[in-house]
Amino acid sequence: MKVAMYYHQQDIRIEEMPIPAINKDEILVEMKACGVCGSDLMDWYLKSRVPLVLGHEPAGVIAKSGSRVEGFSVGDRVFVHHHVACFTCHYCMHEDYTLCKQFHKTNIEPGGFAEYFRVPAPNVQIDTLKIPEVLPFEEATLIEPIGCCIRALRKSGIQTGDSIVIIGSGTTGIIHVALSRMFGAAKTIVSDLIDYRLRMAEKFGADVTVNPENEDLAEVVKAETEGIGTDIVIVTAPSIEAYKIGLRVCRKGGKLCIFAPTNPGEYLQISPKELFFSEIQIIPSYSTSHLETRMALELIKSERINVKELITHRFKLVEAVEAFKTAVENKESLKVIVLSE
Ligand SMILES: [Zn+2]
Ligand SMILES: [Zn+2]
Repeated sequence: MKVAMYYHQQDIRIEEMPIPAINKDEILVEMKACGVCGSDLMDWYLKSRVPLVLGHEPAGVIAKSGSRVEGFSVGDRVFVHHHVACFTCHYCMHEDYTLCKQFHKTNIEPGGFAEYFRVPAPNVQIDTLKIPEVLPFEEATLIEPIGCCIRALRKSGIQTGDSIVIIGSGTTGIIHVALSRMFGAAKTIVSDLIDYRLRMAEKFGADVTVNPENEDLAEVVKAETEGIGTDIVIVTAPSIEAYKIGLRVCRKGGKLCIFAPTNPGEYLQISPKELFFSEIQIIPSYSTSHLETRMALELIKSERINVKELITHRFKLVEAVEAFKTAVENKESLKVIVLSE
């Protein structure tokens, strides 16, 4: 079978690999669509593991099912979550599912950018979700990123009537806009350096958009919130500057959510004195668990999020190089999807 083997962002090769064999409690999925994620573009994060097959937002059809697998059959259309928790460790007992040791160890083989992938038993049991006949595969790939955003907003304790600043208006920034409205936010303010993305945020319901090249985000937030700042700030842009401005526009007692990791070795200076008196809470949110993937699927199924509009580019598996290039370089791109054909 063909796979897109990642060596470096500019060096992705289409290679041949045997179709993975499966055990009795595993399934083999024929990939139909798989999203390119921001984390697939973080070279520092991948460097130590290359060459590898990326792709963790896959949807497809079950091609083979082990004899002990229950609840699934060949031909089922599914979304597969690549990481699942163990439900027995200390972290799981505290519902910190994404910190569970097993969470990182479980993975599809070889990855989503392949014609077929093997789904290990825990992933089959816990987070393989059947998708309806009418739901296009490419839309089901959004389950994972939407799940990540649901988790971030829930961790941030979003409440009806809240005001929110979202820094970074890429795919996940825009998903945060749509979700914030569903959670009952009264005002969403979105900041990005690319006007196209701000226009897209407006389409998804952003109340105020700011391009920091033309306007001062802090001044806008002040004017929009009677000088107090917003209840929640979500930073989806992996930059220290974004976090600095995020802290400035967060209200006292508000929450700043770390949604995007910065490069290794970059630090944000914070003053415990200032944090003490401002009581701003810093809330990191990494990945998504089996809870939010189900919520995301329901929202997509009921068309509460217009995922179609988030998908701007589609490529075939053999064009994976172009897919990555577009995701990195094309300023008018949001979600880039790799399709089997
Ligand atoms: Zn992702
Ligand atoms: Zn666990």
